[in-house]
Amino acid sequence: MLSCHKATRLMSESQERPLSQFERLSLALHTAMCNGCRQFERQLPLIRSLAHTFARRPDTTPTNLGPQGTVDKDSS
Ligand SMILES: [Zn+2]
Repeated sequence: MLSCHKATRLMSESQERPLSQFERLSLALHTAMCNGCRQFERQLPLIRSLAHTFARRPDTTPTNLGPQGTVDKDSS
């Protein structure tokens, strides 16, 4: 059986590329028996959309933050 680490990696990869028949079968077998990975699979679309949203925000990069991690508004 797949480890949870391998199973979650396959789930992520399935968003980028089609899985082989063997990979899909192994993953289906694992998620049938593993509640944690079933939860992860259910939440994967949400996690991905949050990650994409966060990656597209230009104002969340550390270079725009002040020394204490706060936005410095009084620098002028
Ligand atoms: Zn698992």
